[in-house]
Amino acid sequence: MATTNSTNACATPNHGANGGSNQSGRDHIILFPFMAKGHTLPLLHFATALSVHQKNLLITVVVTPANLAFARIRLPASVNLAVLPFPSLPPLPSGVESTDTLPSPALYPTFLNATALLREPFAEFMASLPSPPLVLISDFFLGFTHGVAADAEVRRIVFHGMSCFSLAMCKSLIASPPPIVEHGTSFHVARMPEHVRITAAEVPDTIAKIFDPEDPVSRFIINHVGESDERSWGVLVNSFATVDEDYVAALMSFYQPDARAWLVGPMFLAAGNMPEREEEHDPEGCLPWLDERAERSETAIYVSFGTQAYVSDEQLDELARGLVQSGHHFLWAVRSATWSPPVAVGPRGRIVRGWVPQRSVLAHRAVGGFVSHCGWNSVMESLAAGKPLLAWPFMAEQHLNAHHVADIIGAGVRIVDVKVAGGAVVERAEVEEKVRRLMDAGEEGRKMRERATWAQQAAKAAVSGGGTSRVALMKLVEELQRSYCDVIVGKQDHGANRIILTQAHSSTKA
Ligand code: UDP
Repeated sequence: MATTNSTNACATPNHGANGGSNQSGRDHIILFPFMAKGHTLPLLHFATALSVHQKNLLITVVVTPANLAFARIRLPASVNLAVLPFPSLPPLPSGVESTDTLPSPALYPTFLNATALLREPFAEFMASLPSPPLVLISDFFLGFTHGVAADAEVRRIVFHGMSCFSLAMCKSLIASPPPIVEHGTSFHVARMPEHVRITAAEVPDTIAKIFDPEDPVSRFIINHVGESDERSWGVLVNSFATVDEDYVAALMSFYQPDARAWLVGPMFLAAGNMPEREEEHDPEGCLPWLDERAERSETAIYVSFGTQAYVSDEQLDELARGLVQSGHHFLWAVRSATWSPPVAVGPRGRIVRGWVPQRSVLAHRAVGGFVSHCGWNSVMESLAAGKPLLAWPFMAEQHLNAHHVADIIGAGVRIVDVKVAGGAVVERAEVEEKVRRLMDAGEEGRKMRERATWAQQAAKAAVSGGGTSRVALMKLVEELQRSYCDVIVGKQDHGANRIILTQAHSSTKA
């Protein structure tokens, strides 16, 4: 557990000879990620970025035992980890503490409910701190953290792992349900810019079912997340202004008036490279395989559907056949431990099942494109590497991300939506055609590559000195520290009265 001393929280920081903090609350930031790789990784990167650019801060990341090693290897030694026991909730098997290790998707609601039981240990942790931290940054799924932070008179910043575009769309679609339109007809989404039109098939299933009393995930969101999200002091976003600033106003219209969105991404770029660790973590030898392709001037497509999507064997069969028929080289990360390809994939194809150093793979010169489920991290990583996507969404907000990257940014082509086409699987001919359109030397592929390169340059500029994301990170800490003393003084002045956890200074909107 992190240690802090009990010096006057508003005193000028007294940094030790090692550059460390005096560990007063004013310098202490606590991050609490949700236990899913796509939610944890960006906050680990953000913790690293904070430690790189704000050396005087003490940073503590809250994890559970089975996630400790994953976090430790990805963080600099200066970042502390606080470990809370993961609650037991049968039939969730013991040791399953991250969504990617769930033996079945049916256990997802139980997993969510187990995380809500972390309230008490987390409150004990907060109570053990000698002075209130500067801020708590926690995932929206961990709705209880808002109340615990408020009880400890600490501000909370919420993190969703989503873009402003998709998050604003989800909130708008809940507030103003979509009109009933014919299949495939697009409609405008309330509060969004005029050009934003989607079809019913792009509405995330969770949003379509949000008021369904029988849906356990919706129940969890209503019961355990509730309004905690929208009462947050601010929203931390793993995105950058060039691709997402048009949707900030719509998003923030759902939050309290003083709250603002802090676009500090791509967070992994903001964290800088820790290449030696990435290389170490290539158990399947993906990078040497790509090196061989590069030596022969061959280009491969990388295929991955992330850590959560369950894909049927029938669909995997069609995908395998489509990839082989496309004639392109491919590196394919498969989640299923039991499926085997119905056709010989070698020597052009390589199937891997363990951990893939995805960011290094995407950045590899032998990779020309990405067949992706469009989890937002994957989209950010592909754009940051300048690689166009074949957007193949499955669940959650992935259809909206696919719309964003292919139809708005223009850095990808989309797979036909099986919900619209009425089929159970995407067929091999569709896979073959779309892979060719993405990877072949034609005009369409060239344009997508151009847009991906444009996004890559914008992403790099955003996290470099003076860039929008770097400035947002610095301003975020500055603003928190500036208003911290007002919070503490407010507490002293008002005795037992609960202070109001809003921004003390809200006039400096960027
Ligand atoms: N990831 C990785 N190697 C793997 C599996 C996943 O590096 O073998 C990372 C990937 O780079 C991304 C995250 O895990 O940062 C997955 O997040 P995303 O939002 O793309 O999808 P999710 O898994 O949440 O659906």
